[in-house]
Amino acid sequence: MDDFVKAHEKIIIDTTIESLEKHGFNARFLPNREEAVRFILDLAADCDSVGIAGTHTVRALGVVPMLERAGKTVYDHWSLKPGTPEELDCRRRQMQSDLFLVSANALTMTGEIVNRDGCGNRINAMTFGPRKVLVVAGKNKIVSDLDAAIARLEEVAGPTRAMSLNRKTPCVKTGYCMDCDSPERICRITSIIHRQPIFSNITVCILDEDLGY
Ligand code: SF4
Repeated sequence: MDDFVKAHEKIIIDTTIESLEKHGFNARFLPNREEAVRFILDLAADCDSVGIAGTHTVRALGVVPMLERAGKTVYDHWSLKPGTPEELDCRRRQMQSDLFLVSANALTMTGEIVNRDGCGNRINAMTFGPRKVLVVAGKNKIVSDLDAAIARLEEVAGPTRAMSLNRKTPCVKTGYCMDCDSPERICRITSIIHRQPIFSNITVCILDEDLGY
């Protein structure tokens, strides 16, 4: 990568980490996937149960089977049939797991974590319940501020997620949000975590690659 591109990215990442820390989050940079996996396994060492949010980023690291092999009770609702009592129960158990692994739809350079959910289990578990929360996000999730975060939800995260779920929503054709009234709408709750929530322990790791949406 061009040295100036790399230098520019470093400023963006360093500023985001500094802002997140000012807002009470633990924040750090991870240079590659191997470091990310190591960090997750270390954080899980004193945990019996690990909840996995609906996230491509965390699964792309291949960490879920590693946690299972390490003897953790893993609550991964993607391994269950959607809408079944077992799947809903799994989502509820995530909210009381020792460690909850999740990504973010956007991280702002001003120090906020922004997500938009259909069910809300991810957003709920991020703000209260699990003993520890780890947000792992590719550097592509960083945006300048809250306005840019909402734009990212509407121009990238929402339409791409709707495509991945094969939803019949207008954004899968337009590529951007139409604020639809479709029964298949996936965007139903927006969360902005402005500061480390009281009683929570959220760590944010920014990975030095583009990952997830
Ligand atoms: S609100 Fe509807 S159109 Fe907009 S991103 Fe979500 S699913 Fe797509």
